[in-house]
Amino acid sequence: MRTVVAAALGCQAALLAAQEPAARPGAARDSAATRRGGFEQQGPRPVPRGVLGGVAMTAQDSMIHRIVGRLDFDSYRGIIKGLTQFGDREQGTPRNAQAVDWIEAQLKSWGYVTERVRYDFRGEPREQVFATKIGSTAPHEMYILGGHMDGRGGGEAANDDASGTAVVMEIARVLASADLRTARSVRFALWNNEETGLNGARAYVEQRAKLQGIETPRGSGRYPEPKWLGMIQHDMMMWDHGNPVQFQQTLDADVDIEFQLNSAKASESATLALVLLNANRMFATDYPAAMSNSMSNTDSAPFQDLVAAVSLRENRRLYETGRGANPHWHRPTDLYASFSESDFRLGFNAAQTTLAATAKLAEVRITP
Ligand SMILES: [Zn+2]
Repeated sequence: MRTVVAAALGCQAALLAAQEPAARPGAARDSAATRRGGFEQQGPRPVPRGVLGGVAMTAQDSMIHRIVGRLDFDSYRGIIKGLTQFGDREQGTPRNAQAVDWIEAQLKSWGYVTERVRYDFRGEPREQVFATKIGSTAPHEMYILGGHMDGRGGGEAANDDASGTAVVMEIARVLASADLRTARSVRFALWNNEETGLNGARAYVEQRAKLQGIETPRGSGRYPEPKWLGMIQHDMMMWDHGNPVQFQQTLDADVDIEFQLNSAKASESATLALVLLNANRMFATDYPAAMSNSMSNTDSAPFQDLVAAVSLRENRRLYETGRGANPHWHRPTDLYASFSESDFRLGFNAAQTTLAATAKLAEVRITP
């Protein structure tokens, strides 16, 4: 397994080299840039975004760029604000149930038909909601985008995980547009009961894995559970202030893409992570992404032995979050007001990353 993943990482190194031919050696690019610009540049040069070592985007890239451009920062923040009105949305509470209703109402307002997964947690009924953009040519295949809407800690669970829920919902809002078609289906899953042990996502897998790819009723062209092609989870998206923790966001803040090396689908998951990494390089506006192999403690875990599964986060879960990198984690201070413009912007860059990757994978196009 390590060999396969190493090969995937080697492939990334090759990609980097291919995309930035002029970056090594640096001197060659300096003189070329100076000649092209017709003037001497002082200090660090701006890094061109959306251009790979001077190679223009393909037509498909340009279309993805336009689609990603439809994400709206204020809308993203507004969804987080909307979720935090219910406090921490702890599972089993009225504020949790109200938040599920609120999420469903938003999805419906954008034109989606929503569905609920019903399951028991310690003998009590629980619910979570999802919506699906149905594929136009391959409705029987699907990517799942997830975030967990429940939280804990007595605050507003703004970062954990309204920030990830809002990534998924903002992408859903964009893809709801009537002029966007996806060849494959995309499902937006707002998990419940993550904080009690991933119970919502586990219930989904237990109930629905066996339904994959089955046309119901036969001949209808409808697939209640399209075949899973990948699962992309978003959990804690905004806080990257280093460790020891600084007041300001760190200058090297990034989006962490993790897969699980010790899973049955490690190779496929690494490949999915690379698609996200490259999508970030091309289409995210403010923050880079980094990839690592210890995905843990989030709703992609129940999928990881069945299908390619990754998580996007503000920090690596085990080595950073788990070692005190976020002082608001599960605390009453996980409030909307605790986060700066830059923090929200980091979460927004994860939305850009995932939408761009999804646009490529599910073949999203703008239709007249
Ligand atoms: Zn979380």
